[in-house]
Amino acid sequence: MDAVISKNDYIEIVDRLRNDCDLNDEKLSLLLHCEDTEVNDYLYSQAREVREKYYGKNVYLRGLIEFTNYCKNNCYYCGIRAGNNNAERHRLSEEEILSCCDLGYELGFRTFVLQGGEDPHFSDDTIVSIVKNIKEKHPDTAVTLSIGEKEKDSYKRFFDAGADRYLLRHETADREHYEKLHPADMSFDHRMQCLRDLKKIGFQVGCGMMVGSPFQKTESLIKDIRFLQEFRPHMVGIGPFIPHHDTEFAHKEQGGVQLTLRLLSIIRLILPDVLLPATTALGTVDATGREKGLKAGANVIMPNLSPTQVRGKYLLYDNKICTGDEAAECIKCLSMRVEKTGYRIARSRGDHIFLKNEVEKNTKML
Ligand code: SAH
Repeated sequence: MDAVISKNDYIEIVDRLRNDCDLNDEKLSLLLHCEDTEVNDYLYSQAREVREKYYGKNVYLRGLIEFTNYCKNNCYYCGIRAGNNNAERHRLSEEEILSCCDLGYELGFRTFVLQGGEDPHFSDDTIVSIVKNIKEKHPDTAVTLSIGEKEKDSYKRFFDAGADRYLLRHETADREHYEKLHPADMSFDHRMQCLRDLKKIGFQVGCGMMVGSPFQKTESLIKDIRFLQEFRPHMVGIGPFIPHHDTEFAHKEQGGVQLTLRLLSIIRLILPDVLLPATTALGTVDATGREKGLKAGANVIMPNLSPTQVRGKYLLYDNKICTGDEAAECIKCLSMRVEKTGYRIARSRGDHIFLKNEVEKNTKML
């Protein structure tokens, strides 16, 4: 490729990405770093067209229940890591989790995401019981778990209990990078194995990475993209890295909004039917970040359903938004924000398009 890249060359790169769902490393790298507004707008518009082809104007809601911020791990970037003695810890009881779901159901949520640190207090039996209870009470909802790395047998038990989806960000597909973000007792291979196990068991699986995390290189992001192409997850959660003051990375630079938006579009174009959230982290670094994410190809938002008294404690990073609002307020505010983008909130489970028919059939049989 010529040393000087014209605007037209970039437009061609975007067109090629859209047609082939692929680009070579050199072109990917150019696109990742392209800051030209016109090219970026074109990239976003192509990603929007593709998401609308598969999911129309629908934006799917996931009610996020942050049920424990106890964690046995020490990920260097994370505010709820075990070594942070300043974190105020909390756990919701099984009853509290269920009443969050009841409230969420009334507000129109049909997916609940149970997210937490890796908290040994919640045994497999307890998770199974929580999942069963939610599904018994609200059989037309999807339950997503996001509780970290477990062994295959545990995942299978959660699936058999009725859990539909599992979110486990791979964090980075670059082994060397992974080792700079995590202490030696955490294993890149195990995390990747977990993702493969989850998929084999039959979960709709979400992976993902932080954008602009410390030591991330362009090569790391290209490895992430190659991993997504090979693994073909149903969902991909990405958001900018945001420093937390009580971590080793307190003084590291925050991830960029524009790079996150370009990556959202690139992911939409390589995995056209993927479920792609505009994350809270994106809304934290930019007041209208989530709206921008929706306009760059995202089609999911994950409002917080945790009770207000505990919400301010699940602090993965500094300045997290929506820590003081009631769930009902959050959903009102988000509906307005979504409508302003020209999209609409869909009050359905929001399954991956190719699994949707199967899921509906099974739900009717219940
Ligand atoms: N224990 C669960 C949930 C982790 S929290 C698990 O291991 O999957 C969910 C996600 O928040 C993490 O996967 C990580 O990608 C993101 N996160 C953590 N700290 C962050 C930070 N400082 N900035 C941005 N995102 C962060």
